[in-house]
Amino acid sequence: MSISQNLQILKEEIPQNVELVAVSKFHPVSMIREAYDTGQRLFGESRVQELLKKKGQLPDDIKWHFIGHLQTNKVRQLIGIPYMIESVDSVRLLELINKESEKIGITTNVLLQIHVAREETKFGFYPEELLEYFTTDSYLSLKSVRICGIMGMATNTDDEETIRKDFRKIHDVFSKIKSNERLHLPYFKCLSMGMSGDWRIGIEEGANIVRIGSAIFGERV
Ligand SMILES: *Cc1c(COP(=O)(O)O)cnc(C)c1O
Repeated sequence: MSISQNLQILKEEIPQNVELVAVSKFHPVSMIREAYDTGQRLFGESRVQELLKKKGQLPDDIKWHFIGHLQTNKVRQLIGIPYMIESVDSVRLLELINKESEKIGITTNVLLQIHVAREETKFGFYPEELLEYFTTDSYLSLKSVRICGIMGMATNTDDEETIRKDFRKIHDVFSKIKSNERLHLPYFKCLSMGMSGDWRIGIEEGANIVRIGSAIFGERV
């Protein structure tokens, strides 16, 4: 099936209130263009160099979501390029994004990445660590980042119950922060959960952003 057919099928099934980020990492510009021509405007990339290169070859009205692990030495190059950085996985990185954004006079939209999956390789805050961070007021001094919500991944498994449990844990952290009236987080609304293999479960468990790659573009090489 073609990229446009895949997108059409997904769009029929994904509810209106859920945003679809088409994850184009490792795929060529020509394939992104094909998705763009069907009306897709949100794309996800996981590497700084690859994003910079592709952005230069594609229309300006694309909103790029950065979804990969971001090394601190790459932050400066990245700031100002993506519409949102979904993969902020430490306080240090959050503060650096704030600092570099302030330097160039912009505000960067970010999601905080939560680690609940069983894999050691996944990055992110542990739930308790993030809840703990918001008990201090230090986030209030970050004027050049907009904390828009949370991103998380489930364990890489076929077991639906494990995936659902992981998503519930992520949703639970999201709800605890969002419903805490003592916190000042006016933009905290996004819950990004679900990829090609588990996006339906992600939506059932409350996601309002899904990040789908191979179900649109095919397997990555
Ligand atoms: C690659 C990637 C995706 C998309 O994965 P697919 O299984 O191809 O849909 C989603 N989120 C993150 C963080 C990724 O790195």
